Amino acid sequence: MPDEWIEVTADERFIKRERAKARELRKTPYFQALLRQGICHYCHRKFPVSELTLDHLVPVTRGGRSTRGNLVVCCRKCNQEKGMLTPAEQLLSQLGETPEK
Ligand SMILES: [Zn+2]
Repeated sequence: MPDEWIEVTADERFIKRERAKARELRKTPYFQALLRQGICHYCHRKFPVSELTLDHLVPVTRGGRSTRGNLVVCCRKCNQEKGMLTPAEQLLSQLGETPEK
């Protein structure tokens, strides 16, 4: 599992705050339009709104913030598979490699 080489850098208060912000951003016209389009950022398939989540490109647990640029719409499955990985780590894990310790 990749969890072994992940260092969680964000503190609990930061995580709570940024997650709350993400919930607010979900209600904005920008994300509502994206949710209606229903295209997953990762697998590019179309989903009903109920199957979609907002995902942080750089996870909150890794210090990522809830900004428009750091949030994408994706399906639950992709969100789960991505977990706490940053975009670079995600690419590496898709290649089946892990960064050096
Ligand atoms: Zn997907």
